Amino acid sequence: MAGEIGGVVAPKAREWKIAWGPAVWITVMHLGAVAAPFFFSWSGLIAFLVLYVLTGLGITLGYHRLLTHRSFHTAKWAEYFWAVCGVLANESGPLQWAANHRRHHTHSDELDDPHSPRHGFWWSHFGWLYREDPISLRPDQGFYNVKDLVRDPVLVFMQRYHWAFPLLLAATLFGVGFAVDGLTFGLSLVLWGVFVRTVWVYHVTWLVNSATHVWGYKNFKTTDDSKNLWWVAALSFGEGWHNNHHAHQRSARHGLRWWEFDPTYYLIRLMAWVGLARDIHVAPAPKAKPGSRKSVWRILWPKKGRRMVRR
Ligand SMILES: [Zn+2]
Ligand SMILES: [Zn+2]
Repeated sequence: MAGEIGGVVAPKAREWKIAWGPAVWITVMHLGAVAAPFFFSWSGLIAFLVLYVLTGLGITLGYHRLLTHRSFHTAKWAEYFWAVCGVLANESGPLQWAANHRRHHTHSDELDDPHSPRHGFWWSHFGWLYREDPISLRPDQGFYNVKDLVRDPVLVFMQRYHWAFPLLLAATLFGVGFAVDGLTFGLSLVLWGVFVRTVWVYHVTWLVNSATHVWGYKNFKTTDDSKNLWWVAALSFGEGWHNNHHAHQRSARHGLRWWEFDPTYYLIRLMAWVGLARDIHVAPAPKAKPGSRKSVWRILWPKKGRRMVRR
């Protein structure tokens, strides 16, 4: 049957049923971002920057390295703090996010990868989010690949009410702005702190799914198309070293060469330094292969990798 795990039909070609919730939400966020320049304020820009860092790290450190891959351990309260930062990024709850991402690792660039650029670049960037996923990851059907997370009632609560967290943040920003300087200022804080920032973090996250499976270099031979792409790493706090990550999924450190800048990992080290992180998994640095030293130019301006196979 089309859409079942192990089926032979690529996700894009399967029966289309629009996922109205995410589709409307993502579209409205973009419309708000378009309106934001008309409501510019320096305070709005600061709200954007602070929340970009917090929610971006919520995804990379919280959802990704901590919850999805369990690449280190931390105190429960710190785990919930990062999960809340993650849920404020508007990328669904922690269970759904981890379930999709684990599926990506299990079926990387194969037919059941939820977002492989082999099925089309824009499909992998955001198209897949507009289609209801036939593979059951819903809580009532068990979240089959995140059973470890389902055991935590706080994470289950966050999954169930994930939409309420960003709404609460938006209401707070608007309320504060309105109280300080009226309607326009309230709108400025919301449009920049929620709408523009959400759209920015969306595309940064999505670039890891799309661009780093197309452009970049490999430190490791993997069966998928994952690459290391410096500019995605720079925008995503280190997630762009995606070939390193696919080769060593459990490693808390994604930038494995000394110059592969990885702020998420530096923050995990800082947490360890103050006693908040332990059992940190770290992959060894890749061995330089004789005769295969990449030119700096090729790293800065990478060629497209394997030709995309459209299915
Ligand atoms: Zn990947
Ligand atoms: Zn991963």
